[in-house]
Amino acid sequence: MTDYPHIQLFIDGHWRDGAAARSLPVLNPATGDVIGQVACAETADLEEVAAAAQRGFAVWRRTSAFDRYKIMRRAAQLLRDRVERVASLMTMEQGKPLAEARMEVLSGADIIDWFAEEGRRAYGRVIPARQPDVYQLVVKEPVGPVAAFTPWNFPINQVVRKLSAALAAGCSIVVKAPEETPASPAELIRAFIDAGVPAGSVNLVYGDPAHISSYLIAHPAIRKISFTGSTPVGKQLAAMAGQHMKRMTMELGGHAPVVIFDDADVALAAKTMAGSKFRNAGQVCVSPTRFLVQEGVYKDFVAQFVMHAEKLQVGNGMDAASSMGPLANPRRMTAMHNLIADARQQHGQVKTGGDRLGSDGNFWSPTVITELPASARAMSEEPFGPMALINPFATFDDAVREANRLPFGLAAYAWTRSARTAQQIAASVETGMITINHLGLGMPETPFGGVKDSGYGSEGGSEALEAYLNPKFVSQAGLKD
Ligand code: NAD
Repeated sequence: MTDYPHIQLFIDGHWRDGAAARSLPVLNPATGDVIGQVACAETADLEEVAAAAQRGFAVWRRTSAFDRYKIMRRAAQLLRDRVERVASLMTMEQGKPLAEARMEVLSGADIIDWFAEEGRRAYGRVIPARQPDVYQLVVKEPVGPVAAFTPWNFPINQVVRKLSAALAAGCSIVVKAPEETPASPAELIRAFIDAGVPAGSVNLVYGDPAHISSYLIAHPAIRKISFTGSTPVGKQLAAMAGQHMKRMTMELGGHAPVVIFDDADVALAAKTMAGSKFRNAGQVCVSPTRFLVQEGVYKDFVAQFVMHAEKLQVGNGMDAASSMGPLANPRRMTAMHNLIADARQQHGQVKTGGDRLGSDGNFWSPTVITELPASARAMSEEPFGPMALINPFATFDDAVREANRLPFGLAAYAWTRSARTAQQIAASVETGMITINHLGLGMPETPFGGVKDSGYGSEGGSEALEAYLNPKFVSQAGLKD
């Protein structure tokens, strides 16, 4: 069994506790046991980290894109070399099955590689001038020190997208990683340190999220904010960032619709979407949630989806037999309990699951509810748990109306054999991402982000790098020598 380390802050090239030596306990969600402690940053530490990030930026921005690339590629390889240890820590603190944790670590390494490469291609351009002796250039400059705030559902993935894009662009960064799952993101930071990033270019803090965000967002050294988490918190932070005129990327909540048409491959749709729904126990911002199934295949789809849900082995993620782990914290248990109680009251049909499992740890049964009216809370609030809501629809327009009913617009899914229907649904759903007839979201090279209340900006593709770059226009005339 991997030992769970004492987790410290990393400021200006040093691991250390906070100024007041305060710490918070870390719990294993499969057992409820305290497995370690995480250090908390005080105001004095935050002042130091902001100053360190400013100094780190001065060094890192002058490091050539090629040298940054080499360091980042080394970090990716170190992460791969350490996959077993890092994945075990993640499962111990977050709960997901070890196989999912391993995949997260390895795909984190791929994300670093991709941004390392892309950073070498942060091209500017030359714009034809109106006079013969004038040169008009657009050069891309890093925005400056970044403050990044990340949640507990993907402890590495949520950090690595921000960290890699920022570093590839030449920015320094302060990561405020999740206090509930601190060890695996600390290992990600360690890979970068061991790969040779200069002091101050990468920093890590934990503590009181509201205090840290209000301090860093307002701090003049910090030039860009990136946040992943819930819509209400995202709106608060966006308002604060607006007051201080800071650039932002906001990756917030979702409530993804899944539209299954009569002509879909129902067996493939049910198997694929059940796998996606219950991955990470449904604690995924792009988790498929509102299943809209056309009347002709409705019964068949429900039966097949329930069959897949019932096949899942819920258990401790360290056990190789488990295909779904516990919920990450007791707040999610309360949320599941309340949403399902409301759904029952509103005459939703609980086809399977609906209850906690056992008395130790945060285990919840994979839950499928059908015939739930739009007035039910779960139909509008992001469940962020192992809960699928399935309702029938009659026409294309009915499906689109329901898909677009909510203020969210992060991910959407559709299943149809018709090229025309596929094209029409892709054009009609208000969403940042839609994947049709397969699972195609979340690669490093493709855009990742939402519209409406799901936020703005992208955490994937070349768009993600642009978020950390300022275009500077240089117009130059009268060159003699
Ligand atoms: P929450 O809204 O309190 O926190 C969400 C995340 O934001 C956490 O990581 C938390 O540390 C951070 N946070 C909270 N207040 C903050 C502040 N003032 N400044 C900076 N960071 C702050 O709720 P929670 O119970 O941790 O999670 C519940 C909800 O959050 C879920 O239902 C889901 O909607 C959302 N969530 C979304 C994602 C995502 O990937 N988009 C991830 C985790 C949670």
